[in-house]
Amino acid sequence: MKRFDEMTAAYADLVIRVGLNLQPGQELLLDGYGSPETVVPFMRQIARSAYRAGSRYVDITWSDEVQNLIRLQEAAPETLDYFPAWRLSRDLPIVEKKGAMLVVFSSDPTLLADQNPNHISTMMQARGRVLKPLQEARANGEINWLGVSVPGAGWAAQVFPDLPSEEGIARLWETIFPILRLDQDDPTAAWEAHVQQLSDKTSTLTQKKYTALHFKGPGTDLTIGLIKGHRWAGGRTHTADGLGFVPNLPTEEVFTTPDRGRVDGIVHTSMPLNFRGTVIDSFSLRFKAGRVVEVEADEPAAQQLLDHLIGTDEGAARLGEVALVPHSSPISQSGVLFYNTLYDENAASHIALGASYRLCVDGADKMSSEEYQAKGGNESVIHVDFMIGSDQLDVDGIYEDGQREPVMRDGEWV
Ligand code: ZN
Ligand code: ZN
Repeated sequence: MKRFDEMTAAYADLVIRVGLNLQPGQELLLDGYGSPETVVPFMRQIARSAYRAGSRYVDITWSDEVQNLIRLQEAAPETLDYFPAWRLSRDLPIVEKKGAMLVVFSSDPTLLADQNPNHISTMMQARGRVLKPLQEARANGEINWLGVSVPGAGWAAQVFPDLPSEEGIARLWETIFPILRLDQDDPTAAWEAHVQQLSDKTSTLTQKKYTALHFKGPGTDLTIGLIKGHRWAGGRTHTADGLGFVPNLPTEEVFTTPDRGRVDGIVHTSMPLNFRGTVIDSFSLRFKAGRVVEVEADEPAAQQLLDHLIGTDEGAARLGEVALVPHSSPISQSGVLFYNTLYDENAASHIALGASYRLCVDGADKMSSEEYQAKGGNESVIHVDFMIGSDQLDVDGIYEDGQREPVMRDGEWV
């Protein structure tokens, strides 16, 4: 059995070498977000791995999320749409020099649960507006980037509410080590092999050119149209310059972009959704011609939250992602609900309301907003994933001529 510090050091190496694929001479923008007790030690391990990989400079910032809470509690609401512009002038030159970007989260998923959702979204949108060029640099494949999570007190308390803080954090690390394949002799080799398998799966699915997928499971009977010229993605992505990197660790999904106008039927969630600190145990959505026409949740508060979410903008009532994950994935086998999208999203097949990925549509990088939506792409300020996969989910692929074939049975690849 490897020691704890050996495993966290191996995690840092994995992030730098497989996740970012940081190149000798590359600068690294390293942002830490969350509790200093847990995020700072891991950032130090990251810096060590980065310099060993030949990085020229690791440029760090750390953001204290409690400062966000204090601002929401104390600041005048009309000031919340301000975000300082210097953040962009600090980051953009490094992006222009083809540096890499890494965010390490150790955040408390429930920290802002009692705050006014409108104030939170004002604050988040202000940040998004200022940092939009960075978002575009990532979306356009200009840089290699990655976001990872490390266990902290808030996260551990939500996953293991009955354990004392220290014990909860330790248990959370123990739970994610095998998911990150860090318990294996050579984690890097294990990830290379896994990522290759995901890439093979995306090629196979892309070549199928299905016109739609049909999902059938408990409470679910849903047909999701796929865009003509869609591509499946997953595992490794490449920058425009051809540098391969893995933008999510862990990652188990292959995903593509649904047709915003061709989703019909009903879908029932298979795992709880953690949305801005509120946990919604289960709900159903009914779609007609791509749009949500009916929301059904067990509790009135959840119903209200979902109605609010779907009403955010026109694209918020339509789908922007369909992703397949086998039920035998290590995250799903852990049986733990992580309340963390990075983990939960990779536990089960899922769909997302809101913005879709242009990288999954041939030629979409050069399309205007109107052209992209006419093609079937979806635009929205939200992208909210929810799980629909289980060991009872069947998925069929439907060809243009109406023929169909099984893609998944009982939650596993056929
Ligand atoms: Zn996904
Ligand atoms: Zn997603």
